[in-house]
Amino acid sequence: MEMEFEFLGGADMVGRMGMTMKGNGMTMLVEYGLSPTKPPEFPLPAPKIDHAFLTHAHLDHCGMIPQVCGRYNCELFTTPLSAEVGELMMNDTLKIAKAEDYVQPYTVGDIERTMRAVVPMKYNDTISLKGVDVTMHDAGHIPGAAMFEFEKDVKTVYTGDIHTESQRLVGPAKPLDCTNLFIEGTYGGRSHPSRKETEQRFLAKIEEVIERGGTVLIPCFAVGRTQEIMLLLRNLGYDMWVDGMGRAVTRLFLDYPEYIKDVKHLKSAKKRFNEVRNGASRDNARRGDIIVTTGGMLDGGPILGYLKGLKDDPKSAILLVGFQAEDTNGRMLLEQGCVKIDGDVYPVACELQRYDFSAHADHGQLIRFIEKCDPDNVIIMHSDTRDLFLPDLQDYNVILPETGKAFHLEV
Ligand SMILES: [Zn+2]
Ligand SMILES: [Zn+2]
Repeated sequence: MEMEFEFLGGADMVGRMGMTMKGNGMTMLVEYGLSPTKPPEFPLPAPKIDHAFLTHAHLDHCGMIPQVCGRYNCELFTTPLSAEVGELMMNDTLKIAKAEDYVQPYTVGDIERTMRAVVPMKYNDTISLKGVDVTMHDAGHIPGAAMFEFEKDVKTVYTGDIHTESQRLVGPAKPLDCTNLFIEGTYGGRSHPSRKETEQRFLAKIEEVIERGGTVLIPCFAVGRTQEIMLLLRNLGYDMWVDGMGRAVTRLFLDYPEYIKDVKHLKSAKKRFNEVRNGASRDNARRGDIIVTTGGMLDGGPILGYLKGLKDDPKSAILLVGFQAEDTNGRMLLEQGCVKIDGDVYPVACELQRYDFSAHADHGQLIRFIEKCDPDNVIIMHSDTRDLFLPDLQDYNVILPETGKAFHLEV
């Protein structure tokens, strides 16, 4: 059977994902996210949807789901963990929109209706929708992240974000035999340094900063990176603090131990870190050795308060462990050595280092994954460097879809 596919966003960029699949008398939506820029950018409007699928709870994949599921009351297939973390992210999106006077893309009622529409699935569960069998698989990116396999006449796999190597928090995604492979390409043309060496350099730097009397500030995304870093640091004997939305996400992760590689380790990491709960404990955190806090790109959240206090201290260090998008404070710090706090720009005297703790497969890892899936058609999305895959994919029919332009595949 033939189906029509159309990207509503995220085809040729990292951000605002969304793809429709039409055929067999139904329209399905795979992901619907936003780019958390200032103001946020949205995908194209979605048509009336019958069934929605969410791969994971990062904003670029889940941020716009309530606009569809709230409005059309369509079922949302995802892991229960992605639904709960997604709910946090959706509510936070509304909170930021209100505070910054941005357009509100949906209402609190839409989020509530979305949560009631969730059909929870576990890895390896299969559901049947008008003769299309949909199976969920582990994507290895963050806890609860899923790939979807659609099977009618042939198999079509949609990866969402994936990592094919083990991390401290989650295990790797496994290749799936298929005819059509929709795969993310964030790291097209780039490779990660060895994770082990990165961890050793990171730990050595932390020791150096604390020994010279400084504080280590680690800005982290709430979902995944905060917990990966806590796991890495959990055996250190320092005074360690965690602040921001990452705290609530860690609690949710512990509510769903089946999605965590080693839940004992995560529990002990949570115990080892002091949680910042109020102004007084924030003062204590400032005098501590290590602070892990949102936001990951230094654009909002408690990080700004810590930066304000530490920015003039050359003994302290800011260790960046995540991607810094254009037009963010993190990028400005990297390129110009200054940050904007409450509208004013300040130079930063702290030491600045960055480390690659990516939760995405790199170029070579993606190529090996594709070879093992052995598809006929490879459709690359979630990437602004898709062309760089072409020389390594000459044995396949490669499709580089464009947002808003439909194409057809046998499914
Ligand atoms: Zn992601
Ligand atoms: Zn993503």
